[in-house]
This record gives sequence, structure tokens and C-alpha cells, in this order.
Amino acid sequence: MTDFTYAVDADGVATITWDVKAKSMNVMSTAGFELLDSLIDRALADSAVKGVILTSGKKDFAGGMDLNVIAQMRAGGAQAIFDGVMQMHHVLRKIERAGMDPKTKKGGKPIVAAIPGTALGIGYELPLSCHRIIAADNPKAKIGLPEIMVGIFPGAGGTTRLARKLGAMMAAPFLLEGKLSDPKSAKAAGLIDEVVPPEDLLARAKDWVLTAKDADLVKPWDDKGYKMPGGAPYHPAGFMTFVGASAMIMGKTMGVYPAARALLSAVYEGALVPFDAALRIEARWFTSVLMNPSSSAMIRSLFINKEALEKGANRPKVADQTVRKLGVIGAGMMGAGIAYVSANAGIDVVLIDSTQEAADRGKAHSADLLDKGMKRGKVTQAKKDETLSRITATTDYAALNGCDLIVEAVFEDPKVKADVTAKVDAATGAATIFATNTSTLPITSLSKASARPANFIGIHFFSPVDKMNLVEIIRGKDTSDTAVAKALDYVRQIRKTPIVVNDARFFYANRCIIPYINEGIRMVAEGVEPALVENAAKLVGMPLGPLQLVDETSIDLGVKIAKATKAAMGDAYPDGAVDDVLFWMADAGRLGKKSNAGFYSYDATGKREGLWDGLAAKYPVAAEQPDLTTVQHRLLMAQVLEAVRALEQGVLTDIREGDVGAILGWGFAPWSGGPFSWLDIIGAARAVEICDRLTASHGARFTTPDLLRDLAAKGDGFYSRYAPAKAA
Ligand code: NAD
Repeated sequence: MTDFTYAVDADGVATITWDVKAKSMNVMSTAGFELLDSLIDRALADSAVKGVILTSGKKDFAGGMDLNVIAQMRAGGAQAIFDGVMQMHHVLRKIERAGMDPKTKKGGKPIVAAIPGTALGIGYELPLSCHRIIAADNPKAKIGLPEIMVGIFPGAGGTTRLARKLGAMMAAPFLLEGKLSDPKSAKAAGLIDEVVPPEDLLARAKDWVLTAKDADLVKPWDDKGYKMPGGAPYHPAGFMTFVGASAMIMGKTMGVYPAARALLSAVYEGALVPFDAALRIEARWFTSVLMNPSSSAMIRSLFINKEALEKGANRPKVADQTVRKLGVIGAGMMGAGIAYVSANAGIDVVLIDSTQEAADRGKAHSADLLDKGMKRGKVTQAKKDETLSRITATTDYAALNGCDLIVEAVFEDPKVKADVTAKVDAATGAATIFATNTSTLPITSLSKASARPANFIGIHFFSPVDKMNLVEIIRGKDTSDTAVAKALDYVRQIRKTPIVVNDARFFYANRCIIPYINEGIRMVAEGVEPALVENAAKLVGMPLGPLQLVDETSIDLGVKIAKATKAAMGDAYPDGAVDDVLFWMADAGRLGKKSNAGFYSYDATGKREGLWDGLAAKYPVAAEQPDLTTVQHRLLMAQVLEAVRALEQGVLTDIREGDVGAILGWGFAPWSGGPFSWLDIIGAARAVEICDRLTASHGARFTTPDLLRDLAAKGDGFYSRYAPAKAA
């Protein structure tokens, strides 16, 4: 174990250097922490050592705790988690007290954190326990506590220390929102003490160690008469802060994310007791969050498995397919976005539309986004110029010469797409891969228009392209492994997250979203209070209720999809009741947000006001309303059962993709870790019970899939059954 090294110089300053050899970024493991503990003991015990510099051998300080370690902690049970966390507190507290006399608070050894770059999670909690934090002036560095984003909270004293250092109000953005800061902003916010030129970092740290006085080592909370900045809970100002914070958390999380509530409880309760008791409280709440299945499911889907997919977990083993020159056909909303993210990632792009004006308009979208980035200080003029210079807007297919990947984003019309496919085939070589961004048309049938169906694939982006991180790659019947690898390598280049699915109606994401929207609309037709539908969805962690979602995506698009689906399915089409509502809305010109009128009302500026009260004239609210749980089960099962069927039918081949794709693609209740994780949390037996009941009361669309019944019969779960072969 060499995660930390130790050296003492001629002036008696010990330097402990963090440098995890196998990784490009330091992460903390259990063994690493034990080693650090022993090195601190050594420095404190050695009378020749005057003080300690804690630094990193890498350009950054640390990325945080190894999430694999955290994800596995739950298996050990609550007591083991609590004991482990208390051991961590013990070590950090030892650093903080640094051998000083507990009564006189004299005689401690100064310990300074010298951080060259990014310091996240435990990588900032550790410096927080030191007596001074000095950071190199490195504008790219990020400092902070992002744990809440993963479904946990800072559990190595970060919560208690930062709340006491800054006060609950000022600490809130860093603790509750995981806000990260560059060194200068971190200094301004009081997160760190000093920012120095990178080349001076260690010299300045040493200078501080050699000149620090006893009083410099005593933390405010260890001083007599400490008062929490901004007021503790029973102080009038503190009271206001905590009442506001509770309301804010409930508003933002709808009560479904355990971590934010636990964090606030740890701060509130901790503020009422002495520091060491506060650490024990923090450890108890942290244990409770880790024992909640939501946190491990979130870590598994949002970090471990998301990263595995990004690194090519399902990439066919063929040679590197990095894209050098990309052709984008259709410079509308999607094509323009695809051109932007690609050029931004350093890929040369030829952007084609049927008129030069349309092509130029598509390129102008990139200029707009870059200008916005410049206004926010995120983009330099040089970056803007470089990105724009990579995009050639034209009508000339000859410009596609040399493109190794084409993404087609023209109108959703098979004839238009076929025409474009043939034109591209004529203009490009046999090795060029052709991808369609269709959202609904089967890939295998579109590939019939291609002279090279093995090179034909679906690359389905989500709108808006620059913001949505999921890309759904669709393998047609004839699609080659090389085409899949090309799509995956391209998605890696543009730094998005891929899932790979097989060809079927609506692929994966839309297959699950459409029944969600439809179930909401169906309830309106049945006389369920629209506010109940919308709030039930939000209270179970969906970012948008189904009615708001259809307003955002547009009601006429819903009509178009319904008509096409009905034409394809004939008598088997199940959604007549939904269409009655949709078609009536569309006929009335209520097309959703874009027409300033839909299931919601909007003011003249397009701001959403509230549910449209005219709905009740046509679909009166029934006297008897269903209970909240039934509405939630209908909305969740509508999506989740499609995910299970997609797995049963081989559209999905990896449950990790089903879970990650659902959260990134349409915001499926992230607290649950995704549809399969949610089913594992409630258990297959309970899921079967819910489906059987819904089938009896609401119809065959809730029929329990055989796979789910089988899992229930065998006491199995999705991750336990599919984990050994595929999933983490
Ligand atoms: P859009 O109408 O904004 O853009 C289509 C563009 O294609 C227009 O600029 C049009 O001039 C151009 N075009 C049409 N025929 C052409 C031809 N023969 N040659 C060259 N250019 C031609 O549409 P969009 O929303 O960008 O959708 C494009 C594709 O992406 C569709 O297949 C759609 O289903 C799919 N898609 C859309 C979304 C979405 O949310 N809008 C999401 C995923 C996928």
C-alpha cells in the first residue's frame, strides 16, 4: 500500500503525499485511510517533527471516496457502517487536535492541507480537519462536497465542520446542492484560507507550518463560547434558516430523496450539542442514508454503471472507430444541436440542409450557444472561433467526401429519409457509417434504402441535444459490430452516455415515456383530477407530470405518433381513450407550450401558469377520486412494465442500460436508481401484487410480465439474477 508517502525535511516539516499509483485521480479507500492514520501517528509521535504538510503527488488533490467502497458498505449492516464512519471521525479529529493539550489547547503540531487542484468529497473533508487550507491558483480546480448528487451526504465530518465554519445558511449551497467552486471563489466563500501561485504552494505551506502559533490550531468550535455563525436553531435568525431550509428541501426533493433530509437533520441536531456529539449524530444519519436502498441504487446507476457504459462496457471488440469528420444532414432543431456538440468536441462537421439558408441557420445555433457560454464566462473567443470554424454549412453532398460517420436528422418521413440515404451513399465511401436520428421509425426498415445496410444504425439523441446526456444507439437487424463501435466511439467523443438497444417500435426510451404520458391523459378522460395526476407523479420523483411533459413535447407530435402507431397496429391499438383527449386538444389549437395553450395555461410570455380550467368542461372531475398510491402505481407501472418487456423481448440486453437510460433519457425517478432498481427495491412479489390488482381494475396493459412473475416465484431480483453476467 503506497497511497500515501512520508518524508521529513531538515527543518522538521513532514510531508504526507497522497498519490494512488493505479489511478489518475486520488480516491480514498479503506486501506488508504488506515495508512494515512498511521502516518499521522508517526508525525505526532516524532519529536523531531514540527508540523505536517498534507499534499498530493498528482495535479489534483482527490476526487473523493472510492464509490465502489461506499456502494458495498450497505452489505455489512448498520453497525459496521457506523463503526467505520466513527473510526474516520476519530482520525480526522486526531488531525484537528494534533496532539494539543485538551485543557490548555497548547502544544499541537500545525497540519496544513496544500491542495494543488481539485479536492472533492473526502478530498475536501480531510483538508477541513486540518488547521489551514492553502490551494494553488488553478482556475480549473473544483473544490467542494458533491455527495448529495450521488444520493448521500458528506459523512466524514464535512457536514458538521462546514455548517459550523460558515453557518447553516452560508453552508447550504455547498452541502445541500453540492455546489463546487474554483479556488478563488472557494476562498471568497470561506471554504479555504489562501490561494497562492501553484509554484509557491509547498513553500507557502511550509512557511505557515513553521510560523503557526498555538492559537492558530484551535478551531472555532473547540474554543470557549463558540456560537454558530448565523445562529443555531433556537436563535431567531437560525430558526428562520432552518424553517426555510426544510421547506426548500421538501419542495425540491418532494420527500423522496432521503439524503437531503438526513443532511439537514444532522446539521440541525448537531448544532444543539457539542462538536464530538455532533459528529456522532452525523455518523448515525449517514448510516441511515447508506442503509436506505435508494442511496446504493443511485450510486450504482448514476456513477458505477453510467461510467461503465461510457467506458464501453457493451462495445464490440473491434478496432478504434474515433470519428474524424462527421456529416450531419438536416440542420433543424436536432441536426443543429448535433453539429454543435460534435464541433465542440473537436470533430470537423459538414452540416447539410436543402437550402443554404437553412444550413446557415443551423450553424447559427452553434454561434448562439457559444455566445451564451461566453456571457457566462465559460467560453473564450478563441474557443468560439475554433468551434465555428469546424462547421461547414452547405447544400452540397460532395462536401461529405471523407466523412466517416453521417448522422441524418431530416423530417420524420421514411420517403425523405430514403432519398437522403441514397444521396449520402452516392457521395461517401464504403466504410462510411450512416446513422439515423429517427425517434419512431424502425431502423431495419429504414436501412432498406441503403446500399450498405451493415453500415446503417440508429443514433437517437434527445432534445435539447446540448443538454441531454443520453444517446440511444439502435442496432438494426443487419447492423455490423463496426457500426455499433463507431456509434459508441462517437458518443464517447462528445462525452455523452450511450445505451445500445435492439430495433423495436419506439426503441427503449420512447417506448416507456409514451405509456407514461398516455396513462396520465387516460386518467383525465376517466375524470381523475388533473392536479392529482401531476402531483402524484412529482411526489414519486418524476421531474415532470405526464400532462406537463406532453405540453413540453407538443400535443400535435402526440397526435402524429398516435396516428402512425394506430396505422401500424390496426385493431390491436389500445389507446383510443387517450386519443379522444389528445385529438380534441389538438383540434382546439391547444398544442402545448409552443402554442401557449395545452393541458396547462400560459401567459403571453409563455410562462406556465396552472392547469387549464377548461379541461373540466369536456372531462368533468369525478366525484370519487382514486387514492394517491393507486395513481402513482399506474404512472410508474406504465413505464416500468415496458422496461421489463423490453428486456424480455431482447430490445434491452443489459439492465444497467435500462436503468441508466431511464434516468438520463426521461428523468425516471432518479432516487430509485431506475425502473429495474425500483422493482428490486419494492421486491418482485410486491410488484406482481400491484400489477395483478391494476390488471383487474384497469386492464390488460398492466398484465404481469412472465419474467417478473418468475422472479417473484423464485425470490429473485433483477440485479441478483442479471448481476453475475452483466451488471455491477
Ligand atoms: P426539424 O424540422 O427541426 O428539422 C429537420 C430539418 O431537415 C429541416 O431543417 C429541414 O429543412 C431539413 N430537411 C428536410 N428534408 C431534407 C432533405 N431532403 N435534405 C436535407 N435537409 C432536409 O426536425 P427535428 O426536430 O430536428 O427532427 C429531425 C429528426 O430527428 C426527425 O427524424 C425526428 O423524429 C428526430 N428526433 C427529434 C427529436 C425532437 O425532440 N425534436 C428528438 C429525437 C429525434
